[in-house]
Amino acid sequence: MKYDKNNIFARILRKEVPAKVVYEDNYALAFHDINPKAPIHILIIPKGEYVSFYDFSEKASPELMVGFTKAIHAVIKSFDLQKSGFRILSNEGSNGGQEVPHYHMHIFGGRPLGRMIPQE
Ligand code: 5GP
Repeated sequence: MKYDKNNIFARILRKEVPAKVVYEDNYALAFHDINPKAPIHILIIPKGEYVSFYDFSEKASPELMVGFTKAIHAVIKSFDLQKSGFRILSNEGSNGGQEVPHYHMHIFGGRPLGRMIPQE
């Protein structure tokens, strides 16, 4: 899938669209989800044009991969989520239910999060 430079997260990265930013460094930007599914629901995106995890893990530099993982760690730490636990999740493609075609990781916390995947 070709990267769409005008997807909403690309526009948030370029600061064309506001977001409640909680963390930023050279590799990543993290902000509150506009429609939170848990008391803490943060989205973290890499600084680069990657559609999804599959795309990112194929094309991103080792430096960016490490930087992105460390940025996730920093967000988890900033909310103290390591104490009570949390979930990180990335949706991919149509079966994964991905809505925004810029790779992002969801970070959920603040309450027990239930089953891993809702049963049909
Ligand atoms: P996906 O299904 O692609 O993994 O999830 C996309 C997420 O982005 C959803 O949880 C949705 O609420 C969030 N989202 C969509 N548009 C915006 C926006 O403009 N700002 C913020 N902060 N979150 C958004």
